[in-house]
Amino acid sequence: MPSARHILIVNSRSVHQPVFVVGAPHSGADLIGRALKASPGFHVTMGQPSVLRTVYAFARRPSMHEGRTQAAASVIRDAFAQAWQVTPHSCLECTPQCRAAAGLAADAVGPCVELRGLERFGDASPDLIYCTEALIDAFPNARIVQVIRDGRDAAASMLADPVVMSWFRPSFVNVDTEFPNPFFGIETEEDREAWPQLSPPARCALRWRWSVRLAARLHHGLPADQLKTLRYEHLMSKPDEALSDLSKFVGVTVAAAEIRNEARTARTRGRARGAASAHQSSLSSHDIAQIEKVAGEELRRLGYTS
Ligand SMILES: [Zn+2]
Repeated sequence: MPSARHILIVNSRSVHQPVFVVGAPHSGADLIGRALKASPGFHVTMGQPSVLRTVYAFARRPSMHEGRTQAAASVIRDAFAQAWQVTPHSCLECTPQCRAAAGLAADAVGPCVELRGLERFGDASPDLIYCTEALIDAFPNARIVQVIRDGRDAAASMLADPVVMSWFRPSFVNVDTEFPNPFFGIETEEDREAWPQLSPPARCALRWRWSVRLAARLHHGLPADQLKTLRYEHLMSKPDEALSDLSKFVGVTVAAAEIRNEARTARTRGRARGAASAHQSSLSSHDIAQIEKVAGEELRRLGYTS
């Protein structure tokens, strides 16, 4: 039975089983976020400033929140109390992806959801994964959807994304002052010592590896009705099956159109590549070897071997 302080009221609705979509960068969490957002009665935010501020505070300085579970939980609830408010301008400061998923034009102000029939809340902000444990403390009945993708494909996409790569700028990297460092995937002294010499593909792989290890820890501590791990590859190869699974988990029929489209595009791309996989067509064998050096064990454990 959640205590009174865990009950969050937004627009006179109590927030019940909010759904949070997390994943390493370029693993497909945004795709699930958009599909949930397109589902009736679901208010999913992506990149609200109050959430991003909190996410990056946790991601960059996890040590500040350590051992302060209750304080961290209330910071998180406050951020969502603000983010989930539906006002005539409530999607204005979201990411362009959030507005597009709501069917708003790039310069439209919103709101991105109808108040009528609104029943469920969720969030799929970038890098939300670094708050996962704090989200569960803040919302003990939260539903967590974690999307996992072949780490070599995720790393290949990260390498092509200037925003993700800008986090590796020396002025931004804080691996000397913050340890362990989930954001950069640094967990041991050994990781920290190796980091300065790592190539960009290996640095991306470390971030991916952390997300996979988090999934293992979460599965250990959370019941199956609170945590769902979805594979990006399953979504792309059997979208209807994966979506029916997801719908059961969140308790709402998840809109399928966008994911079916994406799956069709992925199949067309796959055919054009022939036998090569996504990362093989964009990474050198040296890059792939670097990735496998830091994350080989996790790749194998998840069956990403071919
Ligand atoms: Zn929005």
